Amino acid sequence: MIGNIASLNFQSLEVSRAKFLLRIFVCRVRAVQLFFLAMNSWLKTGLDLIYPRSCAGCGCCLAADDSHLCWECKSDIQIIVHPFCSICGDPLQGRIDHSFTCYHCCESRPHFDQARSAVRFRGILPRMIHHFKYSFAFWLEEDLAELLLACCQTHFDSAAIDFIAPVPLFHARQRDRGYNQSALLAEALARRLRLPCRPRAARRVRDTLTQTHLTADERASNVHLAFSVPRPSVVFGRRVLLIDDVMTTGATVNECARALKQAGAAQVLVATLARGG
Ligand SMILES: [Zn+2]
Ligand SMILES: [Zn+2]
Repeated sequence: MIGNIASLNFQSLEVSRAKFLLRIFVCRVRAVQLFFLAMNSWLKTGLDLIYPRSCAGCGCCLAADDSHLCWECKSDIQIIVHPFCSICGDPLQGRIDHSFTCYHCCESRPHFDQARSAVRFRGILPRMIHHFKYSFAFWLEEDLAELLLACCQTHFDSAAIDFIAPVPLFHARQRDRGYNQSALLAEALARRLRLPCRPRAARRVRDTLTQTHLTADERASNVHLAFSVPRPSVVFGRRVLLIDDVMTTGATVNECARALKQAGAAQVLVATLARGG
């Protein structure tokens, strides 16, 4: 009996000790987090004094906040709202009070389940995306990722997504450019939604021409069978959110979704920052 009481006391002492140590550890981690947050804020303030930020849209001087867009340029961004196709998300002018499917999705059902885009590829967006894509303008990531986040939170349930994957670049193109802008957006979004990001879930197996100056038919044949899934077990039975920067006819995301579905993905949702066309 005495032995049991002694052992119980010893166990409760050990539990208290563990709780005490855990509390100290949590306090230290929080202190380190607060230190780095303060450092980050001081660094930003210091950099703003030495090298004032200018608006990524119009070039005007910015007040010291976290955005790289002035209020006027922010208000110029055209958020995509109803009406749009229930499948591909292509917006329509005018007023439609019911859900509808566009002519293209009726003619040929896409391989993805649903696609949505945050904003129209108009105004300051082409310039911002061009800088982000080709000119190492990584400081725009936060503004662009916030737009994408708002789109995903509006249209998708993040609890019903297993992981996020970017549309991949062909390896030689990524080596030349130095990075994949869609992968940066996918990772930024995954951090915000607290979801895993799998940048290598899909692979581009051949180089393709840039889609910019091609017709809809040329775009479709340009990317036909351009993607594969190197490890089907990663996507089998999973619900994937595929990310790209711009969607115009949807040929690229559709081909990537085809590869993911053929590898066994249970669902492929698509979110793009901007919608062209
Ligand atoms: Zn501006
Ligand atoms: Zn459609």
